Amino acid sequence: MRRLLRVNLSSGAIKEEEIPNEIAEAFVGGRGFAAKYVYDEIPPGIDPLSKENKLLLGIGPLAGTSAQSLSKWLVTTKSPLTGTYTRSSGGGDFGAWLKWAGFELIILEGKAAKPVYLHIKDGKYEIRDAGAIWGKTTGQAQEYLRKEHGAKARMVCIGPAAEKLVRFAGIFSGRRAAGRGGTGTVMASKNLKAVVIEADRRETVANPEEFKKVVREQVKCYKEGLGFDVFRDYGTVMGVDYPAFVCGSYPVRNFRTAELEGWEKLSFLQYAQITQKHVGCYACMLNCGKIRKVPSGPYAGVTSEGPQYETVWAFTGPTGCTNLEATVYADHRCCELGLDTISTGNAIGFAYELFEKGILTVKDTDGMVLNYGDHEPMIKLIEKIGYREGLGDILAEGVKRAADRIGKGSEQYAMHVKGQEMPAYEPRALKAGGMNYALSNVGANHCYGYASQEIGNPKPRLVDAAADEDKGDIVKYNHDTVAAFELANCCIFPAHHLDFIELDLMGKMLVAALGVPQFESADYLWHVGEKVYNLERCFNIREGFTRKDDTLPKRMYTEPLQGGLRDGEVIRKPDTIIDEYYDARGWDRNGIPTRETLARLGLEEVDKDIASFRR
Ligand code: SF4
Repeated sequence: MRRLLRVNLSSGAIKEEEIPNEIAEAFVGGRGFAAKYVYDEIPPGIDPLSKENKLLLGIGPLAGTSAQSLSKWLVTTKSPLTGTYTRSSGGGDFGAWLKWAGFELIILEGKAAKPVYLHIKDGKYEIRDAGAIWGKTTGQAQEYLRKEHGAKARMVCIGPAAEKLVRFAGIFSGRRAAGRGGTGTVMASKNLKAVVIEADRRETVANPEEFKKVVREQVKCYKEGLGFDVFRDYGTVMGVDYPAFVCGSYPVRNFRTAELEGWEKLSFLQYAQITQKHVGCYACMLNCGKIRKVPSGPYAGVTSEGPQYETVWAFTGPTGCTNLEATVYADHRCCELGLDTISTGNAIGFAYELFEKGILTVKDTDGMVLNYGDHEPMIKLIEKIGYREGLGDILAEGVKRAADRIGKGSEQYAMHVKGQEMPAYEPRALKAGGMNYALSNVGANHCYGYASQEIGNPKPRLVDAAADEDKGDIVKYNHDTVAAFELANCCIFPAHHLDFIELDLMGKMLVAALGVPQFESADYLWHVGEKVYNLERCFNIREGFTRKDDTLPKRMYTEPLQGGLRDGEVIRKPDTIIDEYYDARGWDRNGIPTRETLARLGLEEVDKDIASFRR
């Protein structure tokens, strides 16, 4: 049987539960289980930071095996940043350890009376006092817990930013994060500092010989994949040179231009020079993590497992800085404080623009002058956000709420979708990518449906990045593809971004591991992915999110992008793409799944919750 662990932090009750076969077969696992339990168990209208919210820590059914890139962990909850469903994926070893402990899901409920952490070992579960590590950074907390529980322990934890209820704090394991959506903030609201697992390696699959064979096939596909060596050697910072500066899609100065003078200083070749070691998640030969050390200057000696591409952008594009050493330091500090780098960088870029416009002055910034290209105030603002000091206290709310508090027309400079800050791809330069942000269930998120067809991926068809229509089906394709792969919580880099693994191969692994024949069919996995996507949408509809929320910042529609390959572009026909998307999905003009669509997907039971929102 496939199992979950339910932990009530209010009462201290902990129990193992079997995941019923009907759910296991209808939702496969990973994001499928998360969507099902989140929809069924988090009632509409609750405050995400109240004890009524639940936090789900999950893995896919192949975690902890030799299958490549399939051991990541996934956090799902109602987001305090957006008020929507959110899911965020983290790396490292924790996912394998959770599997070896015997669970595919931990459901965390209620709120502890004081700071605690959860300890899991040999079928015993303990809620322990976390007084000694509350207030500590993620590095300090993990060091303490490693001393307490030994080298075999693996853990996830939060940092001080989450404890201060910064709305975009993440959950960290080692130096890897489930960063987006404020999952760490929800964990802090439950007074839960960490989850620690001690477990021994054990690979239990239904058909070991067949499983080994299919994994060998997967390894071959990786090695033969276009760009495998380059991605393994340089990691995601490849994105700085291409597509960012080749395609003109690197958002600069709070999404105004696509040109950053001196960007060559941030080339992947520069990062390669300070890379000391390649590291990766459990059972992943791609090793996209890069341990980097700053050799000289004001940040000399600082090391980080990064920065990854998004973080390089977050601490260069929004503020117009090109200081490579500052990006390593910013990555390191965000990790220690427990902050999502994308939202943090955006919030700081928002402040820089408000300062330029005179909406913020030195009176608001504790005397700091926020000049584009100056990285020192950017670094100071990271600390202020993490500890909610001064202007940082306002920015810690996320740019949408910060604009509400600052007023003076500042909302037009808040670059977010549904309250979540936008990632490192300019929507006017890559329009299907931009409409992925607008239409996503979790707010702006590149990992939710990145449109690689706009930069050369021919599957299912190439797409002209600048075209203003004929994109809705591609946005749906990308959303459903990611959802299908995340049924086994497969990392999106090899699955969706790089195309090293196909759904049918993942299906063969699932059958060899679980012995459930229908999982072999890519069509079945695709169908379940679509179902999961619709169920997440229904969660949001039940919360009142409809077509009016499927939108981008006004700047994307009215201000031509300056510079780069897509100079002068705006998104001219968002409603056309949205209609195309809704039609492809079988949703009505208000973005609500029709009764027929729900029936086709086997979701008839949710119709009663959303029927009143239909047009
Ligand atoms: S590609 Fe990177 S993030 Fe994905 S599983 Fe491998 S090491 Fe982890």
